[in-house]
Amino acid sequence: MSSTELYSFKKLIKMLKSKRGRGTELISLYIPPGRSIYDVSRYLRQEYDQASNIKDKLTRKNVQSAIESILQRLKLYKRTPVHGLAIFCGAIPRGQERGTEKIEIYVIEPPEPVPSFKYVCDHEFYLEPLENMAKEKRAYGLIVMDRGSATLAVLRGSSYRIESQLTSDIPPKHSAGGQSQRRFERIREERVQHFFTKVGKEADKVFLPIIDELEGIIIGGPGDAREFFASGDYLDYRLKKKIIGNLPLSYTEEQGVRELILKSENLLSRASLFREKEEVDCFFSTLSKRPGLVTYGVKDVVEKLRSGVVEKVLVLDDLEVHPTRIKCMNCGFTEERYLSQDDVEILRSEGWTCPQCGATSYELEERDLVEYLSEIAKETRAEILIISSKNEWGQQLKPFGGVVAVLRYEV
Ligand SMILES: [Zn+2]
Repeated sequence: MSSTELYSFKKLIKMLKSKRGRGTELISLYIPPGRSIYDVSRYLRQEYDQASNIKDKLTRKNVQSAIESILQRLKLYKRTPVHGLAIFCGAIPRGQERGTEKIEIYVIEPPEPVPSFKYVCDHEFYLEPLENMAKEKRAYGLIVMDRGSATLAVLRGSSYRIESQLTSDIPPKHSAGGQSQRRFERIREERVQHFFTKVGKEADKVFLPIIDELEGIIIGGPGDAREFFASGDYLDYRLKKKIIGNLPLSYTEEQGVRELILKSENLLSRASLFREKEEVDCFFSTLSKRPGLVTYGVKDVVEKLRSGVVEKVLVLDDLEVHPTRIKCMNCGFTEERYLSQDDVEILRSEGWTCPQCGATSYELEERDLVEYLSEIAKETRAEILIISSKNEWGQQLKPFGGVVAVLRYEV
């Protein structure tokens, strides 16, 4: 998923999360790939019959209507989509009184395979499987080592997996002194070289196939082996460039991996924010060196984006700005405004008069800013980067309307 796809997916989850039923009458249905639609429909018809036992008359009616709606929608599918389906359906109250509920249905072809079949009837939608899909997918490579062993692991989100364990046959240091001591040291050094080379090759094998997903590599371990390893020519140069930390640890092997994850917490969150910081810094340095190469504010950014001169847009993730299109129902005159949610409500209650023909009937289309920008950006091959408003770099964009753009050339 691209960052804007992820943004839209998270928004969808948030919307579903806000829905509440009056009783336990909202249905969440997860169909994994491979499960036949026919099979699921049969299951739903059984649930429909079961629902006739529900004592409360209105709840019974609502549950059965929801099942019927799902069955109707399933008829549109000849076979289960590659990632399966997630369906949310139920009676959502429109007002305070009982009976104002309306059946709403959301059919989603998820970005990742649905892990297992689930049918849940509750007063809210069951969203955990979708939330898992929206979680952090970026990976970090971990190397925990000393001269005795090396453990390679991959960390994704909050879970890690040990990919490989190596042990060496390097004898511990001893002090016999004299001639034999020097020979011993030489042999030991050769074995250390051999072991580091082996660890490097193993790291290439484990990390190179997933290099595109790797945000960074973190090395750790007791003693100085980790430093010799990182500074020597043992890792592939592409992996070496990804090293974001090298930390002293008390433990090796799996215990060391856990220790490394705990110790690199700051490092990890900094790395994921690093790209955002770089982009914001780039905007400000362009602004000071070549101000003609940047633009900011929703209106100007949209205008430049449309004309195809925008290279990159940085937009805050929580802007309360809605691109709103007002169209006269009489003459077709259209007007675009960038309004806050409150302004949209005011416009709705106060009405609008067409400046061209004086008619007062109009159509109002309200959009999400990030999605709106992404659509235009797609046509002009501009890049959209969503910046978290929670960190200091995001804050720096606030005085610029929260939306800024770097242009391809001065206009
Ligand atoms: Zn008009």
